[in-house]
Amino acid sequence: MNYVLGAKCVKCGREYPAGPRLTTCSCGGILDLQYDYAAIARDFSPRDLEDCRDFSMWRYRPFLPVEEASPAPPLRVGWSPLYRAQRLADELGLKSLYLKDDGQNPTASLKDRASALAVVKAREAGARTIACSSTGNAASSLAGNAAAAGFETYIFVPSRAPKGKVAQLMIFGAHVISVDGSYEDTFELSKAAIQRYGWYNRNAAINPFLSEGKKTVSLEIAEQLNWQIPDYVALSVGDGCTIAGVWKGFKDLYAAGFIHKLPRLISVQAQGCCPLNRALQSGQAWSPMAEDTLADSIAVGVPRNPDKALQAVRESGGLAVNVSDGEILAAMGLIGRTQGVFGEPAGVTGTAGVKKALESGLISPQSSVVSIVTGNGLKDVANGIKAAGEPMQVKPCMEELLAAFRRCGLHP
Ligand SMILES: *Cc1c(COP(=O)(O)O)cnc(C)c1O
Ligand SMILES: [Zn+2]
Repeated sequence: MNYVLGAKCVKCGREYPAGPRLTTCSCGGILDLQYDYAAIARDFSPRDLEDCRDFSMWRYRPFLPVEEASPAPPLRVGWSPLYRAQRLADELGLKSLYLKDDGQNPTASLKDRASALAVVKAREAGARTIACSSTGNAASSLAGNAAAAGFETYIFVPSRAPKGKVAQLMIFGAHVISVDGSYEDTFELSKAAIQRYGWYNRNAAINPFLSEGKKTVSLEIAEQLNWQIPDYVALSVGDGCTIAGVWKGFKDLYAAGFIHKLPRLISVQAQGCCPLNRALQSGQAWSPMAEDTLADSIAVGVPRNPDKALQAVRESGGLAVNVSDGEILAAMGLIGRTQGVFGEPAGVTGTAGVKKALESGLISPQSSVVSIVTGNGLKDVANGIKAAGEPMQVKPCMEELLAAFRRCGLHP
């Protein structure tokens, strides 16, 4: 059974039936899916999950807005590992830290959770073609998930998108439109094309089902921690859909009685592009900013989901932390070195924010924190090399090797 009651506008409160082609409210506001939590609590409990053999995001079907008859799409999305990151915690001087490595999804980012849901809803809508615009990961995840499910895709990316992500798009057989402009320009062009051709719309914030997919990351974190909720959950923020989805996931569990505490959110943005954090810090309305950061996935000057994102952080009693590109690169190296996890720049930005929040006394060293690594570093090797440097170069001879060790101060 499906527990969805309908969808409600976060701006004006107007309610809509949850048809698969649902987009935004007539007032322009973003819609939020509503569930019958009492019924979920009656039919579903943590006990049911103990016996569940489905190690993917679909193990939480009662919390998802899909028809009972809809099969899960082919790629395995979700159930990414939650690592206890003690070495990193020790280095940061933090009591308890976990890394949720969402770079281990099939196309290597958290966006797969949204794209998997989009593919199911596109099928329910009878669509054959799906389109979106994206800074890169929404694009590659849609391309992969749609390819596996047999859809055609039209995908708009800004020309700055890293090569790894563009290579994924081409390999997954998408029709790729590389737009010589900002993410904002790219989004507007895709919007006009979607309207013209009637494609199924997987654009961030426009399609309210996407954050329902993203929220599964929180359902997993809660289950993987045996329903003991950490003090903070930290993640990077661009459009704001991910953090809104993360909050929705915890609130859903709370409403259905699976958990009895809610975490505080740490919204981390790049100093050079932090329109949402600036609004949180100043208490004023958000306004556009330049897209000046190497963390391409969160270089979003005009966020598409500001209301839900700001509401999520505020409701959680959360924090806003801005980090420099240097701090992002340092976090890439730190997480790699201490935990063996390779995140792309936006993937490690949450952890860079945790470090900064600790250093500036915003959070106590006694806190428990989950930091979400939202995307894999192999998507953007240029920045990986920038973060970690080049290897030592030697001729194939022992003398050279010894000389190189001396030069680097190594004593093997
Ligand atoms: C999209 C993305 C984000 C931010 O998500 P928003 O919904 O745009 O706020 C963070 N990290 C990575 C790797 C992403 O791809
Ligand atoms: Zn409205």
